[in-house]
Amino acid sequence: MKIYPLVWFDGQITCLDETSPSIAAHTLHYGTGAFEGIRAYNTAHGTLIFRLADHMNRFVYSLSVFNKSIPWDGQQLCQATIELVRTTKAKNCYIRPIFYFDDGGLEIAPTYNQYHIAILIFELPESETIQSLRLCISPWQRINGSALPIDKKLTGFYINSLLAKLNAQQRGFDDAILLDIDNNIAETSIANIAFCVDNTLITPSRTNILPGITRDTVFKLSADIGITMQERPITIEDAHQAQACFIMGTLRGILPISSLESTAYDVHHPLLQRLIDNYQKLVQGDYTDSAWNQIV
Ligand code: PMP
Repeated sequence: MKIYPLVWFDGQITCLDETSPSIAAHTLHYGTGAFEGIRAYNTAHGTLIFRLADHMNRFVYSLSVFNKSIPWDGQQLCQATIELVRTTKAKNCYIRPIFYFDDGGLEIAPTYNQYHIAILIFELPESETIQSLRLCISPWQRINGSALPIDKKLTGFYINSLLAKLNAQQRGFDDAILLDIDNNIAETSIANIAFCVDNTLITPSRTNILPGITRDTVFKLSADIGITMQERPITIEDAHQAQACFIMGTLRGILPISSLESTAYDVHHPLLQRLIDNYQKLVQGDYTDSAWNQIV
């Protein structure tokens, strides 16, 4: 992904080159940062940023873990994002707000107040080349909600995702499902997961997952077609018995899973296809409910 040379940095649009953190940055040493991932789409209506306010509110919620009061609220960060998208003329892109500590000393709790907020933009190709993924079950357990506040997006958490992804790739898969502390299905390295069982939808409950914004969108899209996506513990056996499976995440939206180890899934399952079509319409600004969409 190509990064745009202009970024929003502590209140101003500036050159990326002028923002490098120090090698003494606390965040580099201890993973003490918070971030977001937001999608914008090139649509017939203009550049459409999907659920910007929800992402920025989660960003502010995530960084609240560090007990620092920041000079911008969610709404001002939304305005900053819109201004940056307008200035860069970015269209189909991935927007990455990040909070980090530059310096901060060696104590585990950062001792100085040198934190920054930046918003970066990465260009995405016009069309998605990945059509489906092959998953395995990870030997790495998903970090659990009583050890870490996993409803927040904190930089250090992603070592857990990285380990699962690397292990899956070494074994010839695209990604992995991590199990929770009770050995039930949690999520993949960077996305939530759901299964089609007959004509119903099931997804793991919120306890040991990052309850994603795309997952929340799928609750609405499925309700719109008269189906309630049910939250419940899902065993590996349940997963193997499902007819279809898909992941939900900002970067790729709803993406079919073609197999879980030796179990093949129906990537053309009618319910899954309907959700994908409606999600596509939604992010292109062509769905009836457009309150989530920010046209720039
Ligand atoms: N789980 C994890 C671990 C993630 O990193 C992400 C991506 N942010 C998701 C789920 C999906 O969240 P969202 O739909 O908000 O992108």
